[in-house]
Amino acid sequence: MTDRFAVVGAGQMGNGIAHVCATSGFAVTLIDVSAEALAKGKGTIEKNLERQVKKGGLDAAARDAALARITTATTLDAVAGATVVVEAATERKELKFQIFRDLDRLAEAGAILATNTSSISITEIAAVTKRPAQVIGMHFMNPVPVMQLVEVIRGLATADDVNTRTVELCKALGKTPVEANDFPGFIANRILMPMINEACYAVMEGVGTPEAVDQVMKLGMNHPMGPLTLADLIGLDTCVAILEVLHDGLGDPKYRPCPLLRKYVAAGWYGRKSGRGFYSYAAT
Ligand code: NAD
Repeated sequence: MTDRFAVVGAGQMGNGIAHVCATSGFAVTLIDVSAEALAKGKGTIEKNLERQVKKGGLDAAARDAALARITTATTLDAVAGATVVVEAATERKELKFQIFRDLDRLAEAGAILATNTSSISITEIAAVTKRPAQVIGMHFMNPVPVMQLVEVIRGLATADDVNTRTVELCKALGKTPVEANDFPGFIANRILMPMINEACYAVMEGVGTPEAVDQVMKLGMNHPMGPLTLADLIGLDTCVAILEVLHDGLGDPKYRPCPLLRKYVAAGWYGRKSGRGFYSYAAT
């Protein structure tokens, strides 16, 4: 049986995941509570597919076929019929718990219930459902159509066959899965976020400007983009949310979110998606 995907949340990650599902030949329903976010997400997919066509990575017929595989909805009952649900809504624990309680009610009996959370415990999310064995972390990287990695995170109760199926699904999406265990931040953000946070402290303490910090890491460490450019891409709100999970979950003060990062988020400076973060972005 061919898998059918549902993606919950049409933000920067959700629309990227739906894009990759569709270009890999899977039918996908993209769901968001906000009709505006849904329209924007669908528009981003169209724009990114067009870019792939222009670059010669996709022909026009494949683009049209991919678009035809995508349906959209504003209510969660549209997950009916999906064999794999990937939740990619805002990084807030209570919100994810509520979505998974609802998914437990609405999704097919055998469906894999995956979350794209950057840091929230898979075990805790699974525990709000009556089917924790079917819950797993499927952590895509940003931008999803471009990045190879998917971290696959087992919760304490995740069944072996669900883990195996998820690893196979990542490969079917053209990605490279790497397995991780369920501790705060998993592998990627356990290592990345302290670096981004430290870069924020360096700016706050006047060690260097954002441009200087980014240049040092690009030219000196050969990173493809500096940590503050990357933070703006991820979303400063998401960075704070991940650091809070690391701080609460590991109990070490070294993970406390930098006050400058909190201040930017309080001001609505979320980075690229809001037009302003460490840098300013022209409206897209
Ligand atoms: P985003 O702010 O771009 O999008 C979140 C979307 O979720 C919004 O469109 C919002 O309307 C929607 N949403 C909120 N509540 C919902 C609900 N109840 N049902 C359906 N949709 C709902 O966020 P994002 O950057 O796409 O992040 C989404 C998830 O992916 C988070 O868990 C985040 O930690 C994770 N993630 C983010 C990145 C990154 O670089 N931004 C990388 C990997 C993983």
